[in-house]
Amino acid sequence: MTSNVSQNYPYSSESENERASRVERSLAANEGLRDKVRAESIGLPDESRWWVWKCRVKGCTGLLHTAGYARTAHAVYTVCDTCGQTALR
Ligand SMILES: [Zn+2]
Repeated sequence: MTSNVSQNYPYSSESENERASRVERSLAANEGLRDKVRAESIGLPDESRWWVWKCRVKGCTGLLHTAGYARTAHAVYTVCDTCGQTALR
């Protein structure tokens, strides 16, 4: 993860409602993603604002939305709203 530090700055932020609907849309659109997120992350505390990051998958213009906290690392577990990739931030 250390090599990614300079690219970890958030792109934007969103409300809890926006976050929840973007994540839900991505989970619904990508088969198996919901199970993967459930297996690899834990739930989120109540917050009113969340950071948003740019997806770093080549050719993808999507944004990464917070889906939970990673089980195995002190990191935010995010899903892309376009390609469905998951990433730690
Ligand atoms: Zn993406």
